[in-house]
Amino acid sequence: MNINILTEKLKILKERPAAFIPAIEAIHDWLLQSSAAPFQQRISPVDINFPLNKVVPELLHGVPIGLFDLNWEVHCPQCHAITQEYQSLSQAAGNAYCENCRAEFEADFAKWVNVTFSLNKEIDKREPLLSCELPDETEIFLRLKVEPTETKSAIMNLSDVDSYRYICPLTKSQGILTISGAKTDVLQEFSLEQLANNKFNLAKLQAHPGRIKINLTNSAKIMAGLVIFKDALPQHPLPPRLSGLELIHYPEFHTLFGEQILSSREQMKVAAVTTLFTDITGSTEMYERLGDIVAYNVVRDHFDILFTHIEQQGGTVLKTIGDAVMASFISNEAALISIINALEAFEQYNTTQHIDRHINIKTGIHRGQAILVNLNERLDYFGSTINKAARIQAVASSGEICFSEQVYQDSKFIQTMKKFGIENVTRHSVNLKGIDGLQTIYKAVTMFNKNTLL
Ligand SMILES: [Zn+2]
Repeated sequence: MNINILTEKLKILKERPAAFIPAIEAIHDWLLQSSAAPFQQRISPVDINFPLNKVVPELLHGVPIGLFDLNWEVHCPQCHAITQEYQSLSQAAGNAYCENCRAEFEADFAKWVNVTFSLNKEIDKREPLLSCELPDETEIFLRLKVEPTETKSAIMNLSDVDSYRYICPLTKSQGILTISGAKTDVLQEFSLEQLANNKFNLAKLQAHPGRIKINLTNSAKIMAGLVIFKDALPQHPLPPRLSGLELIHYPEFHTLFGEQILSSREQMKVAAVTTLFTDITGSTEMYERLGDIVAYNVVRDHFDILFTHIEQQGGTVLKTIGDAVMASFISNEAALISIINALEAFEQYNTTQHIDRHINIKTGIHRGQAILVNLNERLDYFGSTINKAARIQAVASSGEICFSEQVYQDSKFIQTMKKFGIENVTRHSVNLKGIDGLQTIYKAVTMFNKNTLL
């Protein structure tokens, strides 16, 4: 690692006017601790001992100055290996394939796409570690770690007639061990060799249920190993990390990497995103009452207040449609807090304005699956979740926060409502335009707006 360039680049990062120095120092400490490892360690922002919302902006600002590289990683839902990696979102693809599991999967942007950082090659020439950490739930039958030129052995008992996979997590060599036939009491012995070309000498082994001894010789120049587990792996969520969906909710991502959008041909599935819609109450009447110019200024004030509170909670304003606003959030509670804070700010705004200029809004919140797309060179979401959120907003009365059953089932959302003193929640069965059948929705009124219902 070139410490001089690292020090110089960290100094540049700290000189940024809005830099948060303690976060940069936490990143620096982490880099020093990991520098002795044989491979360059990937910087997963959640591993740094500091709040994520302070660390991620500093890591992002480190990219354009040549301190860090940004890596988008696609992980296999089964073995968690990185199956694809790209430096720009424009290279992302909606479908992916894992060679280890020989399976295709949807590269869900919330579930299987991760973001890590690595030191720029000018600072650390070593390749960032292409780690393959199996899900914690995976049952491992045998584990070996062998230095170059060494041979080591281990014995395991495989009683199930099944297909097992053996891999080296470092060289990515792999093969299949098939257990079939009758159980045997004889110790079955196999010799495997880790070759220098990232392959084992044998890609297939066959044995009977019973005790099996594996001798592993390492003929590669680097450390190698062996892990054996059942070939058919179930899906397990990835361990805590920064997901692609979380990253695109950082305003710094849009400021610094605004040009990084999906290719216009690609669509990425998003397992769950919270969508918020708002609209001003009686805006048509307000334009008639105040005239276009004055009314437009009030609407602008409304956008300023709303956008500030959406962004403060990590939300992204996706678009405005007339006076209506559409925003996305990582969580339901972030959407709720942003709207409660905005309603309080509107209440204060109204105390300083003539009654003709008072701002009241109607809100809808829904959470569900969506598709991330590039629409007119901007990231946008599509799907029935988005339509439903808009329809829920349309049935809200002034000052009300309307939300779906999916949002109501989120205990954190309900706890947050209670924390803000919102006790008055009512359940309704309604027809939502364009959606078949009666839909259950909930309506809540905040303490700020309960006297301003029209
Ligand atoms: Zn896999």
